[in-house]
Amino acid sequence: METEGASSVTVRKTTCSPKAIIHQKFGSNACYKTEEVHESAQNGCPGLAFVQKGPCLYRCTLQLPEITVVSGIFKKKKDAEQSAAELALEKLNIDPAAKSSSLPETWDDLVSRVKYLFSDEFLSSLHPLSGHFRAALQREGHLSGLIPACAIAVFDVTLGNLCKSIDPKVESNPFLIISHVMRAAARLSGFIASSEGELWIRRKNPYPPEIIELSSIQQNPNNPEIIVSSSIQQSGFPEIFMVEAVSIPCSLEKTVERVILNLTSSGYFLDVIAKQLGLLEAADLMISRPIGKASSETRMYFAAPKKYLLDIYSDLLNPKEVCSFGGTLNARASYLSGQDIYGDAILATIGYTWRSKDLFYEEVSVKSYYRMLIGKTPRGLYRLSRGAILAAELPLAFSTNAKWKGSFPREMLCTFCRQHRLSQPIFSTLSSLEESSGSSQSHKKLRVTELAVKDTQHANGCAVATVAKESMESGGSFRCEVKVFSKFQDLILECSPKDSFKKQSDAIQNSSLKVLLWLDVYFRDPNVPLETLKASADGLDIRFEAPNFIEAFMLCQPLHNVLHNEIEEGKLVYANSVNVPYALPGHEIRSLNIEGPDSGVSPSNGSLSCVSYSVSLVAEGEHIKELLESSDDFEFEIASGAVNPHLESVLMQMYVGQSACFSMDLPPRELIFAAADDSARMLSILSSKTCCLEYTITLLRVTEPLEDRMEQALFSPPLSKQRVEYAVQSIKESCATTLVDFGCGSGSLLDSLLNYPTSLEKIAGIDLSQKSLTRAAKILNSKLNSNSDADISCTALKSAILYDGSVTNFDSRLCGFDIGTCLEVIEHMQEDQAHLFGNVALSYFRPKILIVSTPNYEYNVILQKATLSTSEDELDERSESQSCKFRNHDHKFEWTRAQFNSWATELATRHNYSVEFSGVGGSGDEPGFASQIAVFRRRTVPQEDYPEDLSDSEQHYQVIWEWSSSDRSRSAL
Ligand code: SAH
Ligand code: MG
Repeated sequence: METEGASSVTVRKTTCSPKAIIHQKFGSNACYKTEEVHESAQNGCPGLAFVQKGPCLYRCTLQLPEITVVSGIFKKKKDAEQSAAELALEKLNIDPAAKSSSLPETWDDLVSRVKYLFSDEFLSSLHPLSGHFRAALQREGHLSGLIPACAIAVFDVTLGNLCKSIDPKVESNPFLIISHVMRAAARLSGFIASSEGELWIRRKNPYPPEIIELSSIQQNPNNPEIIVSSSIQQSGFPEIFMVEAVSIPCSLEKTVERVILNLTSSGYFLDVIAKQLGLLEAADLMISRPIGKASSETRMYFAAPKKYLLDIYSDLLNPKEVCSFGGTLNARASYLSGQDIYGDAILATIGYTWRSKDLFYEEVSVKSYYRMLIGKTPRGLYRLSRGAILAAELPLAFSTNAKWKGSFPREMLCTFCRQHRLSQPIFSTLSSLEESSGSSQSHKKLRVTELAVKDTQHANGCAVATVAKESMESGGSFRCEVKVFSKFQDLILECSPKDSFKKQSDAIQNSSLKVLLWLDVYFRDPNVPLETLKASADGLDIRFEAPNFIEAFMLCQPLHNVLHNEIEEGKLVYANSVNVPYALPGHEIRSLNIEGPDSGVSPSNGSLSCVSYSVSLVAEGEHIKELLESSDDFEFEIASGAVNPHLESVLMQMYVGQSACFSMDLPPRELIFAAADDSARMLSILSSKTCCLEYTITLLRVTEPLEDRMEQALFSPPLSKQRVEYAVQSIKESCATTLVDFGCGSGSLLDSLLNYPTSLEKIAGIDLSQKSLTRAAKILNSKLNSNSDADISCTALKSAILYDGSVTNFDSRLCGFDIGTCLEVIEHMQEDQAHLFGNVALSYFRPKILIVSTPNYEYNVILQKATLSTSEDELDERSESQSCKFRNHDHKFEWTRAQFNSWATELATRHNYSVEFSGVGGSGDEPGFASQIAVFRRRTVPQEDYPEDLSDSEQHYQVIWEWSSSDRSRSAL
């Protein structure tokens, strides 16, 4: 990774640096202040701050009479100063001509660089440009030895940097280098020749034969006129290489298509590309900067407009005039390359390298073009990293390293910034461990934390949760702030989430992801109103500088219009909400079919699911089905937004081992083409038929969340079983006839109750998870209706019922039951809701007995220690448990014994109940049971009446399933 801004300060060997120019102009009125970027470095607490490139970084503020500028972050003080000076020059719009006249030495450097390029020595060197010199000597006829000026401008970095220091406008318009090269060539008229009206340069004296030999170019023995490179000379006949490239027409009506370049061992590849574009020769070409990685040889080639040629010369005659060329902007090519491209373009990966004298090339397919295109957006980057363009989605939250699949958010954010020519993001983390250590220097940060806590209180009214979490922290926690700057160090956005993590790296990933999610809102629709952008920024703890943001992403607008054009008008609608993948109206699942046995294991929120899947393009009503994408092993976290939501909603209905097939409307076309190998065929199908996407998935396995794994591994019988047994025991002892299970989940308690003879006549369950209720209904239904009746013969059971509803809502049908159970439910609600439930249960439902269980936070240490063993799987778990404070990601809190005690005691007192504490899992000695249990008993009040107004009218629950012994079966499923 390059240090941001480094490119603009690489060439500072000349005496007239930006700082020198500032000095000439402002003298002592220029005031530089350099600061170390991190306070941490000053207050001696390294580790407080984290910056990607190491701890010692500098930023410089330059004050001038009219303006103040702030540099980016640099490793060296002097680079920061130069950068500030450079920015100031730019802001002051200091005339480049005036500047160049004040830079005679840089000009001399440029001229001598050009001279060197035409030297004997350079021809035989290994340099990306020297290959062009050797190839040019092989050009036939009058073109022999002619070097296109654009090749010199593009392939010699040293020369490019010299031009930048002469004229900062080169940074935004690299084509200006050509005019500088031509001007330098004009100064060397004794040595090299150029021709008016054309953009080539040639050395006047021929190279000595021994130099040509040294550069491993030899005369072709059959034809002394033709010179071929030794490496491809074996047969004596020129070889032909067919290289796949992509043509990107300027007109949006025309599709992006594959072209084949016939490169020959005896020809110059730029001539071949020029011909493909309908041009005469290489010197008529323009070449873009590399696309993607800086080291890549993937570039756009396009015609240098004639007007531009003229401008070059007017620029030569009148150096003050800045040339810009006309022509029609090629929106697709410009977006991809990040610079203005005019007319039709060709995208190809061909060039000489530092490693070999042979020409290097790689195929560029239409598919790779679309992959580059989608790879410029955050979600596209993620989809590519997962190799799942039609299945993966950028997840909505970062939980842990173990659960995150594909490229990590921070890595993607860095790539994104590089691709969009922004500075690398700056991360700073705060540690609350240091904050609470009480040193005087950390005062400021401590205050920051407190503020954050207050904010949360305001935001959701559950102060206790936040405070409790903070105070429960044992190992310290990290928060991370990210800033993104433009190439010119203008702040684009900053993200400072309040979320804290045990691991510094998790905090960084979390903040990076938020930035990516927000950027993605814009990329799905660059026409999104500023208000919408602001609203989603607020939700993600982001603040952005609208003008800088808009300027940085200006080129995305035409792209969006391109996509609109490519996909038939009006069909594509980008959604503004974060978690809709490609929202076409009526984008829904059709003809869903699930097959296979019911294994009873199904995905739950937070678990990792592994599927195999394939997606095909299907022409409706025809026998055409083309495979687009498939995977044998695609794993992701359920309910994290990591897959196409349609796919996930189908998956939630499946059991391990089952397969499903369904179809869906088409996503935006760039996704199809990015997945498809044969784009031409896809295009022909798409344009002639009505198509849909067909998904086939098999659910291979589900890895339960940590809690379940821990509970099963560490307790025998498993903790969940122990809880149920505890409840069954209490129920038996109570001789209750009616029971309600609050938050019954999949009905494990109700189901177990049917295995024992009890006095229960009526049982009810309530939950708000449709999925769990469906499963509970299935289980109970089959058990109660089983013919043998063995299970229930010895019970007095008359009715069973399942309700869909929230236990914090009252429903009169559950009033006055003998016993209520609420096992491992309250920690799944916000704390204020848990208090609400307690009040509703004891004041309205008023069961004689209420049994409530919840995890004991103090026991987690033991669970975590016990899971530290040798296998790799468990190491995974370990890192997971370290970053997840709680046993399960869905837990909103976990209480210590003291916290649980105070909740229960206060409730009991208020509602005239007694309460006793016990638990299951472990001996109950320090630090208490694994699951803590409170048993509330209603104090006997003779003839207690329920208030009149709580009568039958209060029915907020919906019956999901019902059974009664008289009619034996009735299903309301
Ligand atoms: N009691 C079951 C399930 C525990 S999991 C057992 O011990 O196996 C927690 C359950 O609480 C989930 O099924 C969840 O859907 C349910 N739940 C969470 N908040 C709820 C609420 N407000 N009302 C009803 N159910 C709730
Ligand atoms: Mg739980």
